[in-house]
Formats: sequence, structure tokens, C-alpha cells
Amino acid sequence: VSFRADLELSGRSVLVCGAGAPALAPIRNLLDASASVTVVGAAPVASITDLAGRGQLILVERAVESGDLASASLIVPATGDAKLDSTIVGLARQAGAPCVIPAETGQLPEEPQTGSVILVGGGPGDPGLITLAGLEAVRRADVIVSDRLAPLSILKHAKSSTEIIDVAKIPRGAHTSQERINAILVEHAQAGRTVVRLKGGDSFVFGRGGEEWQACAEEGVAVTVIPGVTSATAAPALAGIPLTHRQLTQGFTVISGHVPPGHSGSTLDWAALARLNTTLVIMMGVATLPAITAELIKHGMAGDTPAATVADAGMPTQRTVIGSVADIAERTISAGLAPPAITVIGAVAAFRAVSGKRRPRDVRSADHER
Ligand code: SAH
Repeated sequence: VSFRADLELSGRSVLVCGAGAPALAPIRNLLDASASVTVVGAAPVASITDLAGRGQLILVERAVESGDLASASLIVPATGDAKLDSTIVGLARQAGAPCVIPAETGQLPEEPQTGSVILVGGGPGDPGLITLAGLEAVRRADVIVSDRLAPLSILKHAKSSTEIIDVAKIPRGAHTSQERINAILVEHAQAGRTVVRLKGGDSFVFGRGGEEWQACAEEGVAVTVIPGVTSATAAPALAGIPLTHRQLTQGFTVISGHVPPGHSGSTLDWAALARLNTTLVIMMGVATLPAITAELIKHGMAGDTPAATVADAGMPTQRTVIGSVADIAERTISAGLAPPAITVIGAVAAFRAVSGKRRPRDVRSADHER
């Protein structure tokens, strides 16, 4: 990071790099500020030789060497060659010497081009729910690999030169395999780019962030993780449902419903889940909700246990349906709720912060069906 600063230079040693015409104006300004000026440069112009002859500055008639940079209070690159000035800025930085960034250069020398991948959890969809670090990463990215559920309006903060790759809609088919996504991340990072992998919620909550990290690590690509606000907690919160409440429950359990109970790919212990007595949060479970709720009741969960389904949380289309574990599947279907949606089962699903018919402000627009 560089700052513009107001420096008192009177009596301080300033090294001007360059003794050609481009150095004249900075030298004059420095002398006017009573700085103690040393000029290093081969082939000085006559005015500079003259100033040296009159004892107003010290002239060293040779090209700048990196050893020159260590002792000055301030370095002023003024060679007239933007590339050379930029090299001097880089050398000064290495020497830990304060250095003026010449206007012609306009910017710091390019950092060595080592790419990396930043796994950014974008929150549940409302652009206000991405973290400051996540937004900053989007601003800096050279490439953004985004998902359907990521807060896409955030992409307007990317640089105009940033390449945005929507892996939900890559050429030749709507579905991009995880292997292909991993390969895209690695390829761009190895080409020296800062790659942001922008996801909905948190990358490590059913977000395959762990797999992407492994794929990068295997190829020696550096990875940074910026956690996100997961919809597992945000969707219930936005619907006015506290996942824990001292009077109601001492925990919550988050599960994926992408395969139903009894499916060969299911590894969950449904009997244990039915008995856990924590709030149950079911993600990716709209299609399997009838089978899941039936299984929980079969294993002894009371049919009147409160339940709620929240769809499109944090988006203008957010809707909530409430009921019980016995009827939430049917209510969810008949209300036409579609993914992305989360079902919460447990006493907290019947929580009302205020008595009577008024609902908390943040769910005023939600469509309650009971
Ligand atoms: N990594 C994400 C989850 C991805 S899995 C996260 O941490 O939020 C996709 C599932 O997340 C959806 O099927 C749904 O269950 C849930 N989900 C994601 N965004 C949601 C939203 N805005 N509202 C409700 N559920 C959401």
C-alpha cells in the first residue's frame, strides 16, 4: 500500500535518481524546501552541474546503484524513463526506503505474478450479507468463478478487466463438473491471476470448498479462505427463527437432504436425528421432504413438532411456510416453494418474538400459510 503524505523536508537527505532534464523540476522543488539533495545520474545536464558547482547539491556522476537507496530519508525517481523509475521504486521498497511514486509511472511496479485462489463465501444472496473481506477480494480479482447461488449483484464491484466465469452456464452444457471447475481455478492461478471462487453461503457448508482447496493444493496453488454467512443459519434468521433459544433448545444440527432416507448414498442415522432434541436444519431437501419427515416420525419424533420452510432467503422473493413435521412437506409443496429452500424442524420454528398477530419486521413480506 502506498500513501500520499505531506513531508517536512527541511535539512533531510533526499536522493534524486537521474540527472537529466526530467530531474530539474523535482530538484528545484526540493532545494526550495531546504532539503539536503544528492543527485545520482550519468551525463548530468548543465544546470545540475552548475548547482553542484555552487554547492547547492551533491552530484554523483554515475548510474544509480541499489546501495545508494539505503541511506536517504526519501528517494525521488526522476530519470524520465517510466520503466527505470518503476525499477527504482521497486529497489527502494526492497531497501525499506520511502520513495516517491513518479506521476508518469502512476502506479507501483507490478508485484511478481504469482496467482492464487480465494474461496469467498458470498452469503445467502442478499448483497448486504457478503463480508467486507469477501467484497474486497471481488474488487481485486482478475478472474471470478461464480455460482448460481452467489450474490451476483456484487459482481458490479469487479474491475472492468476482470474475467467472470459463470460455471453454472459454461459453453457446451448447463452443468459444469467439479473437475472442470477445479481445473479452471488451477489454470488461471497458474497463469499468475488472482482468482476468486464466489459461492453462495459459506464455501465449507455443502459448498465443495474443501475439494477445491485440495485440487489447488495438489497443484501447488496458494489458497485463501474467506468465510461466508451460511444460509443454514441466515435463512432461518431472516425468517425470524432463532436456531437456538435458551428456553427451547440447546443446539442445532445441519444436514443435507439431497438423498432420501434408505437411499444407498445416505449415511445419516435418522433414528438418532429423530431423538436428538436439537433444532434440525435440512438443506437441499425440498424434493425429499416427504420421505425425510415420514422417517423422523417413524423413529418417534412427535408429529406436532413445529417446522418451517424458508425459500429464497435474503432475496426479494423470500417466502416462509410454517406447520408441523407432519404437514410441512405437503404445505411446502402446495405453496409452490422451490429450491433454494431450508426446512427447520424443532420448537424454534414456532417462535414468535412478539405476541399476537404481528410478525417481526424482517419477515413482514414473507408469505405465512398458517
Ligand atoms: N454453501 C451454501 C449451501 C450450498 S447447498 C451455504 O452455506 O449456504 C445449496 C442449498 O443451500 C440449497 O438447496 C438450500 O437448501 C440452501 N440455500 C442456499 N441459499 C439459500 C437461500 N437464499 N435461501 C434458502 N436456502 C438456501
